[in-house]
Amino acid sequence: IFINWIGLGMAAPTLLIHGTEEQKQKLLPPIFSAEDIWCQGFSEPGAGSDLASLQTSAVKDGDNWIVNGSKVWTSLGHFAGWMLLLARTDKQDKYNGITYFLCPMDHAGVTVKPIHKMTGESGFNEVFLENVVIPDNLRVDSVGAGWKVAMSTLTVERGAAQGVGAIASAESPFAAIEQLIDTAKRTNRNGRTLWEDSTIRDRLMKVYERTEALAQSARRARVNAINGGSMRIPLQGKLNGSEIGQELHQLAMTILGPAASLYIGDANAEGNGRWALGYMNTYTGTISGGSSEVQRNILGERVLGMPKTK
Ligand SMILES: Cc1cc2nc3c(=O)[nH]c(=O)nc-3n(C[C@H](O)[C@H](O)[C@H](O)COP(=O)(O)OP(=O)(O)OC[C@H]3O[C@@H](n4cnc5c(N)ncnc54)[C@H](O)[C@@H]3O)c2cc1C
Repeated sequence: IFINWIGLGMAAPTLLIHGTEEQKQKLLPPIFSAEDIWCQGFSEPGAGSDLASLQTSAVKDGDNWIVNGSKVWTSLGHFAGWMLLLARTDKQDKYNGITYFLCPMDHAGVTVKPIHKMTGESGFNEVFLENVVIPDNLRVDSVGAGWKVAMSTLTVERGAAQGVGAIASAESPFAAIEQLIDTAKRTNRNGRTLWEDSTIRDRLMKVYERTEALAQSARRARVNAINGGSMRIPLQGKLNGSEIGQELHQLAMTILGPAASLYIGDANAEGNGRWALGYMNTYTGTISGGSSEVQRNILGERVLGMPKTK
């Protein structure tokens, strides 16, 4: 399921809200079976936090659209059969000039180049689009409605991304905390185990409490009556989940001490180096899907009703 988190967590909900009956019938079943892996082509070299600055263009040509431009940080692009694509159909109108398409990745003119991360992995990519032909029946919603559709995708993305930081090194945030407690019990420093060190226990319990609060909020989000609006809980979940993931892995580095420098492939690395890998990967969670600063702006403006930032 994790390999198709963009398909299940973002493409399917977007299609259920905005897709045509034909798009749903054709595209949803292979998402659910993970036969079709999806990626998200939103960000561009000049359009990240200010996503509406995107420049990839789509020009109508009979029943087709001709797409030119480039996308960056495209997670899973090297596995994906389909891309959720935002393209500019009107250069004069920043927001209403964006249209949302479904782009088959095997079409001529699509080139995927993996980006190598400092972890040694290549989870995301640059995607170049050169005269790519997309039929009009793969447009989602009306021409110029792309920003509205993208907001639906981003809202569910922030829900889907909840806890991503912690699961970078374990199956669930709670399993990761249990593993770290176990490591603290096995690690001796200054004549006692780290589990007997009150400052370490305190930090472990704080991470546990925050994770439990996050899990309770996620359960609360499923009850519409107490959700308090579609943005509120998913936004908090993404913000808190990614920051808790960082906190947990920083604590892991403290507990491991000098052993934290042993990485994947080293026979002496704790958990085969997964903590060091997870530590680096948790820094992605506070950027992807909208940075923590941007989440705080949105929470301030749209949930708390504070004045808009200039
Ligand atoms: C692991 C990972 C996976 C990703 N996967 C995808 C993907 O699959 N598809 C995709 O389309 N994109 C993806 N992205 C891109 C991601 O959405 C962008 O990196 C993100 O939106 C930030 O944009 P940027 O990198 O251009 O940074 P910038 O927008 O240049 O921001 C730089 C800094 O300025 C701050 N900043 C910017 N604007 C404001 C503001 N108004 N107020 C306060 N602070 C501000 C930011 O918080 C940040 O600290 C991924 C990114 C990462 C790290």
